Amino acid sequence: MRTTLFLCSAKPQAAQSGLQRKRLTPDSDVAENTFNYVSKPRVVRFRFLYFLQRMYIPYSGRPKHCGWPQQYQSPCYMATLSASATLAKGSEKEDKAILEELEVPFSKTAVGTFFQDHPKLGNQYLEDVFLQGYLKRHLPPKMFEEVNQQLERFGARVVDEIDYLGRECELSLPQLQQYDAWGQRVDRIITCPAWKRMKEISAEEGLIAEAYERKYSSWSRVYQVSKMYLYAPSSGLFTCPLAMTDGAAKVIESLDISGPLAEAYSHLTSRDPKQFWTSGQWMTERKGGSDVAAGTETIAREQPDGTYRLYGFKWFTSATDSDMTLTLGRAMDTKGNTKQGTKGLSLFYLKIQSEEGKLNGIEVQRLKEKLGTRQVPTAELLLDGAKAFRISDEGHGVSAIANMLTITRIHNTIFAVAIMRRMINLAREYANQRFAFGKFIKDHPLHIQTMARMEVQTRGAFLLLMEVAKLLGLEETNMATKQDQHILRLMTPVAKLYTGKQAISTLSEGLECFGGQGYMEDTGLPAMLRDAQVLTIWEGTTNILSLDVLRAVAKSEGQVLVSFFAAVQSNLDSSVNIPELAYSVTLAQAALNRLGEFTQRAGLKGSGFLELAARDFAYSLARIYIGGLLLKHAAWTKASPADIYSAQRWCEQDLCPVDTVDRTGSYKAETAFMNTTLVYEGSPLLKGKLNMSDVS
Ligand SMILES: Cc1cc2nc3c(=O)[nH]c(=O)nc-3n(C[C@H](O)[C@H](O)[C@H](O)COP(=O)(O)OP(=O)(O)OC[C@H]3O[C@@H](n4cnc5c(N)ncnc54)[C@H](O)[C@@H]3O)c2cc1C
Repeated sequence: MRTTLFLCSAKPQAAQSGLQRKRLTPDSDVAENTFNYVSKPRVVRFRFLYFLQRMYIPYSGRPKHCGWPQQYQSPCYMATLSASATLAKGSEKEDKAILEELEVPFSKTAVGTFFQDHPKLGNQYLEDVFLQGYLKRHLPPKMFEEVNQQLERFGARVVDEIDYLGRECELSLPQLQQYDAWGQRVDRIITCPAWKRMKEISAEEGLIAEAYERKYSSWSRVYQVSKMYLYAPSSGLFTCPLAMTDGAAKVIESLDISGPLAEAYSHLTSRDPKQFWTSGQWMTERKGGSDVAAGTETIAREQPDGTYRLYGFKWFTSATDSDMTLTLGRAMDTKGNTKQGTKGLSLFYLKIQSEEGKLNGIEVQRLKEKLGTRQVPTAELLLDGAKAFRISDEGHGVSAIANMLTITRIHNTIFAVAIMRRMINLAREYANQRFAFGKFIKDHPLHIQTMARMEVQTRGAFLLLMEVAKLLGLEETNMATKQDQHILRLMTPVAKLYTGKQAISTLSEGLECFGGQGYMEDTGLPAMLRDAQVLTIWEGTTNILSLDVLRAVAKSEGQVLVSFFAAVQSNLDSSVNIPELAYSVTLAQAALNRLGEFTQRAGLKGSGFLELAARDFAYSLARIYIGGLLLKHAAWTKASPADIYSAQRWCEQDLCPVDTVDRTGSYKAETAFMNTTLVYEGSPLLKGKLNMSDVS
C-alpha cells in the first residue's frame, strides 16, 4: 500500500515526531508507547489519512500553498492523491468497525486519549514525617500535641486555599503605573488580589506574630519556622516581604521600642489583617550591594524637628509595595559633609506613603525584570527628600541592621529547604504515576537512587535550618549559652550559603525527574528553579558570606570555632553506640579532626590563604555540622530506618573539602596568580600584562 510505504520507508521520523507533538509518546519509552505502523497497516492508513485531512486536504488542488517546505510538497501531493484514491476504494463500514474494535488513538479526538496525571499536592505537614519526627523529638509532649494539630490544620489550608493563590501571584505579575490618566506622576505598584490576600493570611496565621508573642517560649521560633516552611513554596513568594518584616521587627525589638518605632512594631507583629504591615530593606545601591560601606551614596539631611530627609538612589528594593522600610544613609553635618565608609552609615526608618496615600518623597524609576521571583515587585527607587527617622546612633547603622540580616538569612534558608522539600514531594508523586519501560518510574532503582540523594540533601539542610531556628529561639528568650550564641553567629551565614547552593542543584535534579514536563512553564515547576537562583545572591552572595564566616572567627578570636567543635563532638558522642551508625560516626569524626588540623595550619598562614580557603571552609563547616545533626537524629530511640540511612549516606561524601583542597596546595599565593591566568587566558583584557604583582 503506497501510504504505508511512504510512512515507513520515506519519512518514519516525521511520523513519529507528529505523535510526539500530540504528547502521546513519552520520549524515554518510545518502544512501549509508539504505535506500531508496520504490523497494523490498515490502522496506519487511517491515521495517515486523518493526518492528511487535517494538514493537507484543505489545500488539495493547491499544493503550493500547503505551507510545507518546497522539497516536501511533491511527495506530499503524491501521497494525498494516493490516499484519496485508497479512501475511495476501501469499504468505509469495514474501516469504521476496525477503528472501533481497536480503540485507535486519535480516532475520536484530535489530541488522543492518553493524558499523564499531574502530581497532586497533599497536606504537606502530614506528608513530612521528617518534620514531624523533629518536632516530636524536641518539643515537650504537650507542646508537640498542640503544635502538631496547628500544623496539620495549616497544612490543609496551604493545599486548599494558599497554593492556588500562590499560583495566581505567579500568573498576575505586579505592574508599575507611573502616570495617571491626567498625566500626573503617581508611581503606583499594582499587585494582584491574590498577593493582597497573602498579606491578610500572613496576619491571620500570625506568621510574624508567632515569633514575637513567644507563646511557646524558646520553641516559638521553631514553630514559626515550621509554619513558614510549609507556607513558603505555596506563598507566591510572599515570604520575601515576610522575611524583611520579621527582620525589621527584630531590629526594632533590639532597639528601644518607642516613638514612631512603637507604632511600626505593633503593625509588623499584628494578627489583624487590617493593621498588619510589611517592611522592605533598602541597602543595595548602584555602586554595591556586597560592599555597602563604599556603595552607599544616600545622604540624610537633618530637619529642625529632628527627622531627616533622604536623598539617594536605591538600586534593588524588593516588595516595594510594603508599608515601611529600613534603610542606610549618611547623615550630613551642618557644613554639608558626610563621613565615608562604614562609620558614616546610620539606620533610618521611613513609611512609604503619607497618611493621604502619597509616596513619601520617593519616585519609582522602574520595576526590575528578573529571572525569577517575578511575583515580588522589586524596584529601583529615587529618594528625593523622603521623610525618615534615624533609629541607630549616628555611624552605627551597619551594626544596627545586623539583626535584620540574621533574620532574613534564616528566611532565605527556610525558603531553600522548603522548596527542595516541595520538589521532592511532587517528584515522588509523579514517579508513582509515570510509567516507562514496563513499570512506574518509582520502580526503577536508578531513578529512586537519584531521588534518595535529593532527599538526603534536603534532610541535612532541614536539620541545619531547625538548629539555627532553635538557637535563635534560645537567644531571644535569654536561654542561650555562650556556645549557643557562638554557633548561631557562625552557622547563620553558613546555613544561608550552603542551603542556597543545595536548593539550586536539588531543584535542577528535580526538574529532570519530570522529564520534558519539568521544563514546561505551565506546570509551575521551572519557576521553582528560577526563583531558587536568587537564594545564593540576595542577602549576601556565597563568597561574601564565606568571608563573613571568617569575620565571625576573627572577631571572636576563634571562640566560635571552639564552640563548633564542642557541639559537633557532643553530637557524635551521642551516636557512637548505635552499631548501624558506628562507621558513619568514624567518618564524621575523621572529618572533624581534619578540620581541626586545617584550622591549626591556617592559623599560621596569611589573610590571602584564608581568603582562598573561605568558601571551602564554609562548606566544610556545613557538611560536618549537618553530619553531626543527622547522626544525632538517627540515634534517637524513635528514629526510622530512613533516618539512619540518610545519616549514613550523608557521611559518605567528602565532609571536609577545605582539608582535601589544602593538601593539593590550592590555597597558596601562586594559585591566585594561576587562577587569574586561567580565567583570563586569551582575553584582551590582560594579554601580556599579567604578572604575579597584579594578583598578590
Ligand atoms: C531579586 C533580587 C532582589 C533583591 N532585593 C534587594 C532588597 O530588597 N534590598 C537590597 O538591599 N538589596 C536587594 N537585592 C540586592 C542584593 O542583595 C545584591 O545584589 C547582592 O547583595 C550582591 O550585591 P551586588 O549586586 O552589588 O554584587 P557585587 O557586590 O557587585 O558582586 C558581584 C560578584 O563579586 C563577588 N564579590 C564581591 N566582592 C567580593 C569579595 N570581596 N570577595 C570575593 N568575591 C566578591 C560576589 O560574590 C559576586 O559574585 C536584591 C537582589 C536581587 C537579585
